[in-house]
Amino acid sequence: MKIDLNVLKRQFELHQKEYEDAAIKALRSGWYILGREDEAFEKEFANYVNQKHCVSLNSGLDALILSVRALGIGKGDKVIVPANTYIATVLAITINGATPIFVEPDEFYNINADLIENAITKDTKAIMVVHLYGQVANMKAIMQIARKYNLRVIEDCAQSHGAKFEDQMSGTFGDAGCFSFYPTKNLGAFGDSGAVVTGNEELAKKIRALRNYGSEIKYHNKFEGVNSRMDEIQAAFLRVKLSHLDELNAERKHIAGRYLNGIKNPAIILPKTMKGSDHVYHQFVIRTKKRDEFKNYLEKNDIKTIIHYPIPPHLAECYKHLGYKKGDFPITENYSDEILSMPIFNGMTDEEINYVIEVCNNYQN
Ligand SMILES: *Cc1c(COP(=O)(O)O)cnc(C)c1O
Repeated sequence: MKIDLNVLKRQFELHQKEYEDAAIKALRSGWYILGREDEAFEKEFANYVNQKHCVSLNSGLDALILSVRALGIGKGDKVIVPANTYIATVLAITINGATPIFVEPDEFYNINADLIENAITKDTKAIMVVHLYGQVANMKAIMQIARKYNLRVIEDCAQSHGAKFEDQMSGTFGDAGCFSFYPTKNLGAFGDSGAVVTGNEELAKKIRALRNYGSEIKYHNKFEGVNSRMDEIQAAFLRVKLSHLDELNAERKHIAGRYLNGIKNPAIILPKTMKGSDHVYHQFVIRTKKRDEFKNYLEKNDIKTIIHYPIPPHLAECYKHLGYKKGDFPITENYSDEILSMPIFNGMTDEEINYVIEVCNNYQN
């Protein structure tokens, strides 16, 4: 049996007719960017996460960049960010001219809240949190620290659509929740798009202006904005997918549950969930000492896996000028040597899940 990391076609086929109808409706409307579908999606998504405002954008990276910028964070400012994250989180800080201050992860792969206070200096303006792999970071502790030091909080929710901590949706704890709707995300479009949710009306207004050349009134350019508008056809697709998001997340949780119960191999460390957390398993990430050997073993058995992420941002070539070296963030570096993301996707069959479990259990290191 051949198991791909993700078969995007399957989640399309799960609700194919609805997507096709949505596409035809959007095409026939005669309006293609920032229209009725977009407005409806913004309302529905704000409603879904239980937040006041949603501003649709062109990507998750734009959501992060424009949030940092709209909060007035830039040159000379420092932003606390997990060392264990995707490069996009860090790019949003450096593109705005601010400096990332990396903090090591906890056992759940998210920023270790106990280490944040030590990283705060007089220039620190914000904490950028990432809810990695679909699990909300320790927001209770993080919001307490943010209040104590009067720091802004930006949440990178690119992997956590619908994830909750003590019944509160990811993206609604801080000043801004930044979402990506890249096709492989839990709420994925059929192209690029993203959004920011916020309870702050001024912030929403500013991001809304920034996404459209910095104008609130057409051709009256208040800010040096960008073009980060959502396509109507993507908004139409997202409305369909959002209506099924809870089922789609339930399916991911089911697969994760099968793995957690079925994989019994002392060489494989399974993911843990924080108490009070509702994990949506954007990724199912295991750890093993001889990771590359295990990855090859799976490959030989026709199971595709991937590493999220092989090079931590502080060691990325583009950040050489920040002056970090190997050994500066040993927990992050150790994770990146041992982690492996297993196949988990909507439309995965029971047979496929069973096969992955069986191959994992037969692995001898
Ligand atoms: C996908 C992702 C992003 C970027 O989203 P795009 O829509 O691809 O720009 C940012 N942060 C994290 C953690 C991601 O997984």
